[in-house]
Amino acid sequence: MFKKNNRDKKPGTPRPILYFYGIAFLAVLLLNWLVFPYLTKPKVVEVGYSDFLDKIESNEVTAVEMDLNEISFVVKDPKGEDTYYKTGYVDDPELVSLLRAHNVDFGAVIPSQPNYLLNLLLSYGIPILIFWLIGRRMSKMLGDRMGSGGLSFGKNTGKIYVPTGDKKTFKDVAGQEEAKEALTEVVDYLSRPERYSEIGAKCPRGVLLVGPPGTGKTLMAKAAAGEADVPFFTIAGSEFVEMFVGRGAARVRDLFGEAKKKAPCIVFIDEIDTIGKKRDSGLNTNDEREQTLNQLLAEMDGFEGDSGVILLAATNRPEVLDPALLRPGRFDRQIPVELPDLQGRIAIFQVHAENYKMSRGINYDILGRATAGASGAEIANVVNEASLRAVRMGHPRVTQEDLEESIEVVIAGHQKKNAILSPEEKKVVAYHEIGHALVAAKQTDTAPIHKITIIPRTSGALGYTMQVEENEKSLMTKTETFNRMVTICGGRAAEEVIFEEITTGAANDIEQVTKIARAMVTRFGMSGEFGMMALETQNNIYLGGDSSLACSPKTSELIDIEVKELIQSAYQRAVQILTDNKAKLHELAEFLYNEETITGEQFMGLLNSENKYTA
Ligand code: ADP
Ligand code: MG
Ligand code: ZN
Repeated sequence: MFKKNNRDKKPGTPRPILYFYGIAFLAVLLLNWLVFPYLTKPKVVEVGYSDFLDKIESNEVTAVEMDLNEISFVVKDPKGEDTYYKTGYVDDPELVSLLRAHNVDFGAVIPSQPNYLLNLLLSYGIPILIFWLIGRRMSKMLGDRMGSGGLSFGKNTGKIYVPTGDKKTFKDVAGQEEAKEALTEVVDYLSRPERYSEIGAKCPRGVLLVGPPGTGKTLMAKAAAGEADVPFFTIAGSEFVEMFVGRGAARVRDLFGEAKKKAPCIVFIDEIDTIGKKRDSGLNTNDEREQTLNQLLAEMDGFEGDSGVILLAATNRPEVLDPALLRPGRFDRQIPVELPDLQGRIAIFQVHAENYKMSRGINYDILGRATAGASGAEIANVVNEASLRAVRMGHPRVTQEDLEESIEVVIAGHQKKNAILSPEEKKVVAYHEIGHALVAAKQTDTAPIHKITIIPRTSGALGYTMQVEENEKSLMTKTETFNRMVTICGGRAAEEVIFEEITTGAANDIEQVTKIARAMVTRFGMSGEFGMMALETQNNIYLGGDSSLACSPKTSELIDIEVKELIQSAYQRAVQILTDNKAKLHELAEFLYNEETITGEQFMGLLNSENKYTA
């Protein structure tokens, strides 16, 4: 916790690099005090005074220097090389005459460093140079991630978005009309602020785009940049989370500093949940992230109403964001960017189709219907897969068939060419899939499917049913929800009704039906037992939604019982429907078994024809 108080006292100081240079400087000093003296000064051997006298006697000594408390002398060995010795000082009156007798020089023997300047350079200059180079490297590494270089720490933190050749505009974003409209206003404000200030309207400070992954949030922000003729800074939330503590906050500061200079402009923070998570008192708090968030909040308060800086941000986890971020004056506008509806999906198909060579007369309506629940990113992927398939098949243009097959590929995986289903297995799969479809058809009296195939997929699915949803709904009645469960039970029910044996093939169905039943009881208030009582809260609506139970263990037991009963009655109902329509079940399954594919029209045609068999 000690870090918390002394950080951020001095705004804008690139602390880490200062630390680095401080340490480097100390290292240089230490080297000079402790290491270099031994390296640069000649080696001196210490000997006793009598040895010294012996060496004079034997005429080996060439020079002597007497100091206050030690005597240094030089001995020339036979090869002519000097060795330096020293010995303690002894008050010896005869020494001088002895030296004279043997013709030894007095004076300085140990050469002082010849050139002070050179010496200084060697012992300080070179190490400092080395550390400086390393430091530059480091700062460059850190700087590069933000698009700055060299020693300019903490500068240029946001990349200015330069609309390049593939400049995006709102035309590239299909559907999402509400979101576009909300952003259009922002863009318009930036280009004509007078019009707004005239009647006193203040521009929104922050606009938050919320929605599941792949719905075009990032794309939308880029399009806003393309539309507005103003500088656009973009940065991802993760880029604030730094190697060094304190960097994130500094980065936020610099980003806003830069933005204010360039105002009017847009700052876009993608994936803001990385830094904007609730500050909590839990054990695993992240100091660095909190600092960054605090700085962001402070900056958002800092700019006055008309500074002309508008903040855009995107996230798919709005529920984890700190409430302080969402209060008026900060991100006071939330724009939901939801999964596209039928019209939206059709539009997205069309927008992306423009980039490919398409056959004439593609039926986009079918494609839109077949991709219920898919995001914009998935649709973009489908179109691209279709173009790849077209090349593989040698089609000059992308065909309807390519597109439909690609939907299956993206959703169910590639066809597994060499997976061999034994005839018995194939038969079970055929009955299973027809079981689902027949139960669905009998409940609603409409074509429940676009197509069923029983060609195994690499994803492990043995059969694949492409459903159609005629009219998409945001609300489902209790009856519809239950009917959905019955349809899901239809596969396993068909196995039991026909073969009086069950297989492992229903694992996925079981998972799904349980999920629905649980949700009915714990979240939708559709159980007789609990009524309007919330028993479960969903944590993460845009990312798959794991939920946590909020009830006593006893209640949880009751929930299990109720869920079990719901599933059982749905299953019973499915068995009932199939038993009543056994003849049709046989007929349809036989058709699917032989053809491996059945379309919605064929299905309805057979269903409504005269019975071939009698039950
Ligand atoms: P997000 O940021 O919401 O996760 P992106 O904006 O990164 O999603 O979208 C990924 C890709 O999906 C885009 O580049 C685009 O090709 C496609 N896409 C998503 N939504 C749309 C849309 N509404 N219109 C056109 N293309 C879309
Ligand atoms: Mg994104
Ligand atoms: Zn199934």
